[in-house]
Amino acid sequence: MPPNRSLDALAREKLAKLESQQLLRRLHVTDPVGGAGVERDGRRLLNFCSNDYLNLSQHPDVIQAAVDATQRYGAGSGASRLVTGNHPLYEELENALARLKGTDAACVFGSGYLTNVAVIPLLAGASDLVVLDELSHACIHAGTRLSGARFEVFAHNDVEQADRLLRAHRAGHDRALLVTDGVFSMDGDVAPIEALADLAEAHDAWLMTDDAHGIGVLGDGRGSAHAAGCAERVPLQMGTLSKAVGSYGGYVAASAPVIAWMKSRARPLIYSTGLPAAAVAASIAALHIIETDRERCARPLALAKRFCEGAGLPAPESSIIAVVLGTPESALRASERLLADGFLVTAIRPPTVPAGTARLRITFTAEHEESDIDRLAEIVKTEIL
Ligand SMILES: *Cc1c(COP(=O)(O)O)cnc(C)c1O
Repeated sequence: MPPNRSLDALAREKLAKLESQQLLRRLHVTDPVGGAGVERDGRRLLNFCSNDYLNLSQHPDVIQAAVDATQRYGAGSGASRLVTGNHPLYEELENALARLKGTDAACVFGSGYLTNVAVIPLLAGASDLVVLDELSHACIHAGTRLSGARFEVFAHNDVEQADRLLRAHRAGHDRALLVTDGVFSMDGDVAPIEALADLAEAHDAWLMTDDAHGIGVLGDGRGSAHAAGCAERVPLQMGTLSKAVGSYGGYVAASAPVIAWMKSRARPLIYSTGLPAAAVAASIAALHIIETDRERCARPLALAKRFCEGAGLPAPESSIIAVVLGTPESALRASERLLADGFLVTAIRPPTVPAGTARLRITFTAEHEESDIDRLAEIVKTEIL
């Protein structure tokens, strides 16, 4: 039997099983048509599941910056940043990130996922300890496993359990890293950052927050650690340029020596090609908007509040609202119901969320209209909850 025959057979078997469990995922062609609008299968829809919280991916200044940079520097960067891929825009972007985050320095990576896979194995190795929230993003779990460190997972936002784990295991390890999402991507709640900073300091652990859903939205756009009022106590503020910043890439904001160490030693920075200039230039333009347009930064959370009031849900902590429905079928059915009225809200199913907690994840972006929010809230309240 040719080798690909067994491969195809395995793939077919896996697909059939996923299909029978309603867990098969399909890629849908989705065409952005400006603001919060998209077109799918010939239909105009309002996108209520994008992470482009400020709609900056469609902002004319951001698009123009990408076009200009492409003309000036070309389409790709051609090499690792440590070889010749470090075009002049990187320094400007890293300075802007450090300024926004209030740190000495910042390092930009290929994506948010790559950032966690780069940084956690640099900071922790076989003789070290990583303690992380169970609902931390998949790439935090991936980076932790890759690090080879001992890792211990605490129940979601359970500071007391994190404390017990550090008490039990800290002494047997050289270094310790305490990691959490700042805003949890599938639940929309925020981490108890100040309490975690207390813990980290008490146990000589380094606190790292993943602010993928905080930058641009919380703390006047400066992120979840700033919103918690304790950014200076978070030595590793990680995040992405691919969500509210509207472009592509990932970053860590930290002290100058830590950033210099990352630039010299983090493997995805060494062995993967630098970002296209267009992505870096777009991020610079977007950060300028985030720094100067407070109103735009405040809008996603304000709209999430309006929605929750209308739907009779508890007040939100971020621009992400989880409507947990349980089974994959119920989440798919609710998503179809909203689609009928032109609202695009993808059903979120395991393994992205724990079994039994399939849900609608509704996100709010600056260019949503109040009237659409109210219509959506009414349907969710009367037909889904
Ligand atoms: C999306 C996300 C990432 C990954 O960022 P990308 O730039 O999309 O790779 C990392 N962490 C969290 C919490 C996320 O939600």
